Amino acid sequence: MTSKIAVVAVGGNSLITDEKHRTVHDQYLAACESMKHIANMIQNGWEVIVTHGNGPQVGFILRRSELSRHELHEVPLDACGADTQGAIGYMFQKALHNEFRKRGIKKEVATVVTQTLVDKNDPAFQSPSKPIGSFMDEATAQTQRTKDGWHVVEDAGRGWRRVVASPLPKQIIERATIESLIKVGATVIAVGGGGIPVVENEQGELLGVEAVIDKDYASALLANSIQAGLFVISTAVEKVALNYNKPDQKWLERITLAEARHYMAEGHFAKGSMGPKVQAIIWFLERGGSQALITNPENIARALAGETGTWIVP
Ligand code: ADP
Ligand code: MG
Repeated sequence: MTSKIAVVAVGGNSLITDEKHRTVHDQYLAACESMKHIANMIQNGWEVIVTHGNGPQVGFILRRSELSRHELHEVPLDACGADTQGAIGYMFQKALHNEFRKRGIKKEVATVVTQTLVDKNDPAFQSPSKPIGSFMDEATAQTQRTKDGWHVVEDAGRGWRRVVASPLPKQIIERATIESLIKVGATVIAVGGGGIPVVENEQGELLGVEAVIDKDYASALLANSIQAGLFVISTAVEKVALNYNKPDQKWLERITLAEARHYMAEGHFAKGSMGPKVQAIIWFLERGGSQALITNPENIARALAGETGTWIVP
């Protein structure tokens, strides 16, 4: 029997609905909406681990850090990851606590600051590609390159940006803790932003690195390593499409792993958005996962009832 443990990866839109609503309070209100759907799953008997992105929130910290450079120390990227896991985890904890209280659900919610092990020889470190932080002019970019060893690239006429590596996740360091929290009945928030990327040195010690791990890849790895019975990627679309946004667009309802691989190879899933989600699910199923779903937060319940969403199965 497959387990009743679900890993639900929630996307950026679960916290920042639009550019005009990005204060901490606005993010909390958005979190309350998203967590209602998680509470529904829990009421339907699922034990849930929520994972989430942190791109905009890391961007805000880096910008603050940059503006106060003349007065305060800067915040390294791994610490930004930890800060956002804590802050976002707190929002979800509070939102879920209040939602549970309303519904008479007796459950606690805990956030695990999560480190994700990456390989220090991952080829991604040779070609950093993930843009982070604000745009800079060329002079600033060159100064950062020589002074701090940043990798900087020009972004299609919009200015210069720092890029970091996006290595593959190898192991969720706090896996056993996450699992034991679920076993005692807690709802868990973990692997925020894909986890804080760490490498192991020759002595076996962990060192934080300046990189960003794809949250969907890390969530898939977590789902496999705790043998979750369900992996949900909650994003801005109700279903995945072939020929997305084209006249011959076709929504997918239920596809097999082989079909997913085939459509992926045909280029139906955009690089930086739907591509990594479908890839994460392909890996999840290849490593023994039993079922995965992509839909938007408001349709999770209907999708679990078999009425909508895109299901991907072995
Ligand atoms: P998240 O913040 O949840 O990670 P992303 O914006 O990275 O979300 O990815 C989800 C987006 O991918 C959708 O909102 C949609 O615009 C886009 N997308 C790209 N290709 C497809 C496709 N084939 N089917 C559906 N959505 C797609
Ligand atoms: Mg994304």
